[in-house]
Amino acid sequence: MVKKYKSTCSYCGVGCGVEITKAPDGKITLTGDKDHPVNRGMLCSKGMNLHYTVNDTSDRLLYPEMRMHRSMPLQRVSWNKAIERTAAVFKSLIEKHGPESVGFYVSGQCLTEEYYLWNKLMKGFIGSNNIDTNSRLCMSSAVVGYKKTLGEDSVPVCYDDIELSDVILVEGANPAWCHPILWRRVEAHKAANPNIKIICVDPRETQTATNSDLFVPLIPGTDVYFNNAIGRLLIENGFTDSKFIENHSDGFDAYKEKVFEKSIKEYAEICGIETEKIIEAAKWIGEAKGFLSMWTMGLNQSVIGVNKNLSLINLSLITGKIGKPGNGPFSLTGQPNAMGGREVGGLSNMLASHRELSNPAHIAEMEDFWGVAGISNKPGLSATEMFEALDSGKLKAIWIICTNPLVSMPDANKVEAALKKAKFVVVQDISQNADTVKFADVILPAAGWAEKEGTMTNAERRVSYLEKVVDAPGECLPDAEIICKFATQMGWGNHFKYNSSSDIYDEYAKSTIGTNIDCSGINYELLKKETIQWPYPADKTFSGNNSRLFEDQIFYTPNQKAQIHAVDGKNPSEQVSEKYPLVLLTGRIRDQWHTRTKTGKVNKLNQHIDSPFLEIHPEDALLRKIKDQQVVMVNGKRGEVKVKAKLTETVRRGTCFLPMHWGKIVNNSFARANNLTSDLVDPISKEPDFKYAAVEVSLY
Ligand code: SF4
Repeated sequence: MVKKYKSTCSYCGVGCGVEITKAPDGKITLTGDKDHPVNRGMLCSKGMNLHYTVNDTSDRLLYPEMRMHRSMPLQRVSWNKAIERTAAVFKSLIEKHGPESVGFYVSGQCLTEEYYLWNKLMKGFIGSNNIDTNSRLCMSSAVVGYKKTLGEDSVPVCYDDIELSDVILVEGANPAWCHPILWRRVEAHKAANPNIKIICVDPRETQTATNSDLFVPLIPGTDVYFNNAIGRLLIENGFTDSKFIENHSDGFDAYKEKVFEKSIKEYAEICGIETEKIIEAAKWIGEAKGFLSMWTMGLNQSVIGVNKNLSLINLSLITGKIGKPGNGPFSLTGQPNAMGGREVGGLSNMLASHRELSNPAHIAEMEDFWGVAGISNKPGLSATEMFEALDSGKLKAIWIICTNPLVSMPDANKVEAALKKAKFVVVQDISQNADTVKFADVILPAAGWAEKEGTMTNAERRVSYLEKVVDAPGECLPDAEIICKFATQMGWGNHFKYNSSSDIYDEYAKSTIGTNIDCSGINYELLKKETIQWPYPADKTFSGNNSRLFEDQIFYTPNQKAQIHAVDGKNPSEQVSEKYPLVLLTGRIRDQWHTRTKTGKVNKLNQHIDSPFLEIHPEDALLRKIKDQQVVMVNGKRGEVKVKAKLTETVRRGTCFLPMHWGKIVNNSFARANNLTSDLVDPISKEPDFKYAAVEVSLY
């Protein structure tokens, strides 16, 4: 019998709804969900082809596997044996070297229930905070930016604000390719209202830049200067909101002093752009009734990622354009459940429900809630720190879940060396093609999208339910079940006994009571009927609008005022030199996702761009006698990459661009962009400086 199901796309953080049809043979097809408030039936190329990744199980890890030494081949074992060994090794390491000798590295693609359990297990029971997520690589600067300005990691806007805005500033993001359905809504809004203005600030002329009214091709790393220049003009031209500044914010005077340190001409010179562009952008923003800013990795993935975030959010604060229809700073989430992961405490410096490790009352609340004692207040290792600690021997065991750090982490050669040194590596994944598999001592095969139920939260705080549609192949198990098996083997079974995913969600939702992200009113019964944005308390104590936050201009900071920060733009990224004179940028392409373990097996998606490439400006290429499509070597301090050159004026002179998706060797090329990326991180958010590395390019 043909059956219909509802779910959510598992790629980007837009969170589009899908309707799945399952045929009698178990194969599925899908379409966009016309009733879904996010996508209204639309899907992008990745979402449209999601079912192929489920129907094609040829690459799947099907059984638990194990080996006693890395020189031996992996051998199929039972679940009991794999879990027993993993628990025995973890117990012995914890006994000998303490709880900080082990770590979990998880993913923004995990479901909220799984994410919650991993955190509960590490922070409540193992006794360290060594759990971090690949969301550290994409969102952590935005998390800090929101916390420092609004008092909480809470996206203040919703997608419906798109249609209510009249100026959209996109900075360090290419939503036309990376958040396509959100961008379709922007395009439709523009088509219906030709007077609305789109400003795109990016060193590359992306598809988003092409669609914009004003493209600002600034020098990489100069975003803070650009934002401060806009801030200066908004103040000079009387576009600030003095009532908001006076009554609802702190920090304006220091901010004003900072942005007036440089003239607009000086700012323009630093950013490598014409002053007219800054003047025009400031005028549009100042005159806008609805001003939305949108950003992603160009701001976040930087050694000054937090400052970049603060400088952009400042523009909404000094103009009072927040908490009002069509207004606000909107961090576009990269992964489908990066938001859900942050809610449950997925970063090594947080506790569940946005509680802080640095707050003794928060620690006491979670100890009481989980029935444990001694939650550590010491932040655990961040993503990059985990691999550094493996390398130094401080971290002995790592459990990698649903992520492929050998392709996605910066300075990937260092990650590879660290994994070689690790005493014990557990890989919990769906694909044999995950590069980590060859370093695994134990493989735990997981159920994938549509093979288990659970929830995710999208970029506008919208929680949605994902139905189980098909049985997982082989002996694959849902991640939540794997965690509970392990916890039971460790002796904590009483605390990890759940009858269903719904029970896990209910426990998590209960932990949010009394917090700013209270979602205690959300449960599976409701989610099976509709998607819901938090906050959504069970006792209806939240009287505001849960789609758009801060309409009352009361913020989550201790004095309830938004905090404006005076930030400097100095960029301490790796400096270019005579040996490495070009700045390397990395990023995504339209039809691939992360490290291609899923999208790479879909022919239709590979038709868009089927192999890695290096974008280089024709004048930089001419200097090096490089012609279009010739194979080149890209060299940097940490490694090299061999790819075909693509000559294009869409990159600035002095910069080049590599997509981040491809792994170590593709068709005899060393295509892994992260061979070259810098190991610098933002000092506060610990987010890597993926978009700034010094390299040289030469003909192969
Ligand atoms: Fe999926 Fe994102 Fe495309 Fe929507 S925009 S279909 S969530 S990849």
